Amino acid sequence: MIIGIVGLGLIGGSLGLDWRAQGHQVLGVSRQTSTCQRAIERGAVDQASQDLGLLASADVIVLCPPIAQIFPVLQALTPHLSPQALVTDVGSVKTAIVLPCQDHWPRFIGGHPMAGTAEQGIEAAERGLFVGAPYVLTPTEQTLAADLDTLINLVNDLQAQVHICSPEAHDQAVAWISHLPVMVSASLIATCGQEADPQILALAQTLASSGFRDTSRVGGGNPELGLMMAQFNRTALLQSLTVYRQALDQVVQWLQQEDWAVLYQYLQRTQAERPPFL
Ligand code: NAP
Repeated sequence: MIIGIVGLGLIGGSLGLDWRAQGHQVLGVSRQTSTCQRAIERGAVDQASQDLGLLASADVIVLCPPIAQIFPVLQALTPHLSPQALVTDVGSVKTAIVLPCQDHWPRFIGGHPMAGTAEQGIEAAERGLFVGAPYVLTPTEQTLAADLDTLINLVNDLQAQVHICSPEAHDQAVAWISHLPVMVSASLIATCGQEADPQILALAQTLASSGFRDTSRVGGGNPELGLMMAQFNRTALLQSLTVYRQALDQVVQWLQQEDWAVLYQYLQRTQAERPPFL
């Protein structure tokens, strides 16, 4: 199969490495010549160009630029596409992408490989990044069964785990387990930083260890990614944050009332509820 990839960064480059290893021909497009050159040198693509016209012969095109660029790239790409080309994306939110993209190109199916690292760019691309990871596909009633099968086969080539759901269900689910934690973790860091006594602040920074490293990791990551999650998954994230704030208020109330039995039961429940998420 001839696969086109637009956006040769961590995700686009990693997909190219794995699909080439499976015998697919991979054509890549990225904005910078240096990225295209490195993608060829690293073996992520067979050919690369800054010109979307390179993808005219592709059977499947995977859009891997930052979220805000996915729809504009599709618009720029369509004059070059063959009518039967199947297009998908890898964006971390789905509804805001799938609705305009499918409207524009009916043979568009949303996708989200749920693997990554803290690094960015073509140098960060790695073989086997998606092995065992969830890969969500979000077909709609417009989607052709044959197109969905084509994508499922490509995801299987990555040894990732296919999950199929609606774009809306995806966004609500990732709001709970990915986007809410980023905002909670960011707020945790900001709150600790509000300690007024510089000596206490310095002591806290010195004492911070594995627990703080775990709970602050996602809030201390790439600000652009966090902003895009908020902008493009605003409704689901707001709903999750509202429920979370109610939970925090509840904990504050138990502390104020010294209601230790109820707090203990709550912590017992959260201890039991954690494993199914992991
Ligand atoms: P990245 O490493 O920064 O790669 C994105 C690449 O896209 C950049 O290297 C850039 O290459 C290229 N690019 C930017 N604008 C472009 C445009 N208009 N046309 C063509 N190429 C363009 O980012 P990433 O982590 O791979 O994320 C890419 C997508 O994957 C995002 O939509 C994100 O939501 C999704 N995703 C990310 C993760 C993660 O953990 N990182 C996980 C799952 C999904 P140039 O240097 O050539 O400009």
